Amino acid sequence: MARVRLVAGNWKMHGSRASIQALLDALLQGIPRSGNCAVTVCVPFPYLGQVAEMLRGGPIAWGAQNVSEHQQGAYTGEVSAAMLAEFGCRHAIVGHSERRQLYGETDAQVAAKFAAAGTAGLTPILCVGETLQERDAGRTEEVVGRQLGKVLEKNSFENAILAYEPVWAIGTGRNATPEQVQTVHAFLRGKVSSDTPILYGGSVKPQNAAAIFAMPDVDGGLIGGASLVAKDFLAIVEALNT
Ligand code: PEP
Repeated sequence: MARVRLVAGNWKMHGSRASIQALLDALLQGIPRSGNCAVTVCVPFPYLGQVAEMLRGGPIAWGAQNVSEHQQGAYTGEVSAAMLAEFGCRHAIVGHSERRQLYGETDAQVAAKFAAAGTAGLTPILCVGETLQERDAGRTEEVVGRQLGKVLEKNSFENAILAYEPVWAIGTGRNATPEQVQTVHAFLRGKVSSDTPILYGGSVKPQNAAAIFAMPDVDGGLIGGASLVAKDFLAIVEALNT
């Protein structure tokens, strides 16, 4: 896919009908009408209908935070990629570190989810990232290379987005430095097509976004906490929009 610049919000398990209405109203009002930056929000499953209704035809796309690796069947509690497509989702996050760590998702499972999303016409946002222990042991490239490698074994990365999210920077308030981000992004770029958008995620805030986005191999951000606060999310979009 074209090397688009993208800011993606990951709302995680936050929100209510009322808070989502207020957040999207504010985003729709403040979103830049021109520029070269795309915006998407990845929302909890139950609100996909509400979000689709509010965002359809507008400048903000939407997606999910997870997807089943199966097409259909006896998988209680799971949501298929075809179901997400029916709700107009453009994106699906796969392999977020919270899914890997809290729910034991393996590299193979993440690769299968990536494939399922693509088959249904969604654009997967594949998350890779190392723990602090792995970074301190000098294993960052080995870990992110392995996570990405498993996906590349059986999938093309043509219509996909990569997100580097160091686990130690997610929700901790401690972002990777722009130089640390650039080093890993350059490594990852060597493994996918030069057109692949590569996002950084991990405590991106209005205060640090511009410096991170200025790095040559950073094409945008995957934003957790700050995506729940309209003025912060809009400021991050502004930092990418040139
Ligand atoms: C995330 O959940 O993907 C994330 C990057 O979270 P935060 O921005 O809160 O660190």
